[in-house]
Amino acid sequence: MVDLILFWHRRDLRIADNVGLASARQRSSKVVGVFCLDPGILERDDVAPARVAYLIGSLRELQENYTKAGSQLLILRGSPVQKIPDLATALKATAVFLNQDVEPYAQERDRLVTDALQTIGVHVHTFWDQLLHAPKEIMTGNSDPYTVYTPFWRNWRAKKKDEPAPTLQDIEGLTDAEQATSETAGTIALPTARDLGFVWENELLLPPGSQAACDRLMEFCDRAIAEYDEQRNFPAVSGTSHLSAAFKFGTIGIRTVWAAVQEIYNNSRSDETRKNIQTWQQEIAWREFYQHAMYFFPELAKGAYREPFKDFPWEDHEEHFQAWCEGKTGYPIVDAAMRQMNEIGWMHNRCRMIVASFLTKDLMINWQWGEKYFMQKLMDGDLSANNGGWQWSASSGMDPKPLRIFNPASQAQKFDPDGEYIRAWLPELRSLDTEQLVTGKIPQEERDRCDYPAPIVDHKQQQNRFKQLYQQQKTK
Ligand SMILES: Cc1cc2nc3c(=O)[nH]c(=O)nc-3n(C[C@H](O)[C@H](O)[C@H](O)COP(=O)(O)OP(=O)(O)OC[C@H]3O[C@@H](n4cnc5c(N)ncnc54)[C@H](O)[C@@H]3O)c2cc1C
Repeated sequence: MVDLILFWHRRDLRIADNVGLASARQRSSKVVGVFCLDPGILERDDVAPARVAYLIGSLRELQENYTKAGSQLLILRGSPVQKIPDLATALKATAVFLNQDVEPYAQERDRLVTDALQTIGVHVHTFWDQLLHAPKEIMTGNSDPYTVYTPFWRNWRAKKKDEPAPTLQDIEGLTDAEQATSETAGTIALPTARDLGFVWENELLLPPGSQAACDRLMEFCDRAIAEYDEQRNFPAVSGTSHLSAAFKFGTIGIRTVWAAVQEIYNNSRSDETRKNIQTWQQEIAWREFYQHAMYFFPELAKGAYREPFKDFPWEDHEEHFQAWCEGKTGYPIVDAAMRQMNEIGWMHNRCRMIVASFLTKDLMINWQWGEKYFMQKLMDGDLSANNGGWQWSASSGMDPKPLRIFNPASQAQKFDPDGEYIRAWLPELRSLDTEQLVTGKIPQEERDRCDYPAPIVDHKQQQNRFKQLYQQQKTK
């Protein structure tokens, strides 16, 4: 009899270029996929409906891809610590294969599931798949983890990258009798996002699934990547890949992405194009830097990395926080960005930095409030990248620059010079002069006419207060 291997999908919702899955296929011709809808994740208070919609849509496509390959993707709902071993027992699986994750919750969950499986005699095989380089591959000369990005990038860039792993095909799945057994062991039909209590009615910026992610990658490689360095900072321009949700859920393999991008790099005769491509590759390295950081310093998930911010006297003004969430601060660039995220579940990177700086440095609200709100809204919400971005913006993280404060007006003047982005997301201000939009210097009567709030704080004043507080904290 052929050994049955279960492949447990988590953040690798694809059958192509999946390291652990390809390895399972090498070991046996009978491989069945499983995904567990975990209340430990889905019942948290920071889950974004857009993210669940993307997840469910991607699982639907993954089920179809398993069927085409000759097998099944089974769905479970409940604690994986209970459900995965129960399923393995019922189906007499000899092994469970899985790709590792860096997040503290995932690591603890995997440890418990592995223990439970080993106790019942099921082998567990783990792999690194979601990163081009696993955490322990990129270390300093002293074998320590990096805490500064630039030397990490140099080391990471120089290391050879693996080729994409083979796509799963021609496999054997469960027999009808085994399928019936799996149902008794708790497998269910894939629910909708609504069944799980999440309502998302808008179109997703990136449609779910691997096909859409591959199409987007090709489109980006054909067009925007060659101008990425110049265009990526302008939120009114579609100058970035919009692949973040695909990276978050692994609907595309990172080796596939690297191979596609590196091919254009190698074939390009223009230094300019190569520079643009390399800037994008640096973003991929930022993603890996933050994941490595989370792996080695899991305490980052709980609080500030730098000393002055460990007990920072944040003011945590509830009404100001509410105004920030709703995009009603009276600062047009901040409000436009927040409304973009509230509406489409995604925000441009430049704007993520602007609103995060505003929340922490102007409103003096704890960055963790913003971190959580982002997770509640973003379709690409990801602990490592989000925490890294927030700690960078709050100046509490692994950033050699001690303090960064963004001036919303200068940012808008530089990166939205025609006010196009602001007009797109703040329709009530469309009739105003561009100068007024980008500087935020809008006379009160105009604000009243447009039903747009007065600034809730004064940037200059708050900037000075923040600097003073920071100095006090440093000398404590
Ligand atoms: C406060 C704050 C919060 C953020 N929260 C998240 C988050 O929850 N999830 C998330 O994926 N990104 C987050 N980012 C990083 C970045 O804003 C998004 O990855 C990016 O805007 C996604 O758009 P894109 O796919 O078009 O990116 P592109 O510009 O095309 O970049 C390609 C990929 O590189 C990665 N990447 C790019 N920039 C960063 C970065 N600064 N840090 C880590 N990875 C990066 C992403 O996977 C992205 O998809 C955050 C940034 C800040 C400042």
